[in-house]
Amino acid sequence: MKAQIRQDLMELMLIPGLSGHEDRIRRAITKKLGAIDVETSTDRLGNLHAHFPGDGPRVMLFTHMDQLGFIVRKIEPNGLLRLERLGGVPERALAAQDVLVCVADGKDIPGTIASKSHHATSPPEKYTVTPFPELYVDTGYNSLDAIAAAGVRIGQPVVYAPFAQERANDTVCGTSIDDRAGCAVLLAVAEALQKRTNGPPVDLAFTVLEEFNLRGAQTLAQQLNPDIAIQIDLMLATDTPDMAARGDMVLSGGPGMSLYSFHGRGTLNGVIPHPAMVALFETTAQQHNIPLQRSAQVGVLTDLSYVQLTGSGVAAIDMGFPMRASHSAREVCDLNDLVQLTELLRAAIAGIDANFSLDRDDYT
Ligand SMILES: [Zn+2]
Repeated sequence: MKAQIRQDLMELMLIPGLSGHEDRIRRAITKKLGAIDVETSTDRLGNLHAHFPGDGPRVMLFTHMDQLGFIVRKIEPNGLLRLERLGGVPERALAAQDVLVCVADGKDIPGTIASKSHHATSPPEKYTVTPFPELYVDTGYNSLDAIAAAGVRIGQPVVYAPFAQERANDTVCGTSIDDRAGCAVLLAVAEALQKRTNGPPVDLAFTVLEEFNLRGAQTLAQQLNPDIAIQIDLMLATDTPDMAARGDMVLSGGPGMSLYSFHGRGTLNGVIPHPAMVALFETTAQQHNIPLQRSAQVGVLTDLSYVQLTGSGVAAIDMGFPMRASHSAREVCDLNDLVQLTELLRAAIAGIDANFSLDRDDYT
């Protein structure tokens, strides 16, 4: 299983899929699902979904396939590009970063975000972050006409230059581990669902627009009307000096379960998981000897926040894998955490039968 997850992750990380522009990544995932005989459908927003019939409460298991990035905002007369941010782009981590302007498959244009020449940097400038509107991208094209002829126009998607590298101890570093790692895990879960002989009905989904507005999955949830929603995304690894006070989530320490998430800036949403879901994952982890880490974070949010409010309410939980350097162009995860997360999801879903209770009084 690890070899398959590794291969899927490495491949998916190299395919651009900015929020609202997920078509290339969706086609790649559709192809991978087709290769294991899983039929899929796509809704108008671009959410990709596969249904596995069964008995019991209806489960929606999903992960987002889009990634954060940029949009071309302005083209300067000398061909330099100005960008607008799309999603939680870390301004601090942008100088000298390679990007890819997504024109069309085979026609994408590489460029680099500016870093002011060091020889001209004054002492106070050394420790300040360049405001985003002042940044520009150099692609080598040196006139409006030349860059337009190459296909670049205002509004086009731009992503971090896709990068995927295997590192020591089964770790992987690169772009959009958030959330192509989730996609690789769900592909491995799909394989098991395809082979099973019983279990609850499962709608497995790869959703859009998570990094943009967190609501792409909502339209799909409205159609599917699930009883249970399980969302897969990163968990903030806190085992580095800069993150130590934030929690106890260790890279390579196994999958994670979120007990609390909230985003107080703007969206005012988050998830406090349903007690049936917490009990299910705790019991399953124990029975199968899978380590399970706990996360409680303000500032983190997924599209589950909106999915849980569908219909008369959905028993929801955020599950995931520890990840370092979130939203930078060099995110890091451990393949072993992804394998254990896959095992945990397969076993937990198998543990949901027709009598599975979603009555809170049975758990509290
Ligand atoms: Zn994510």
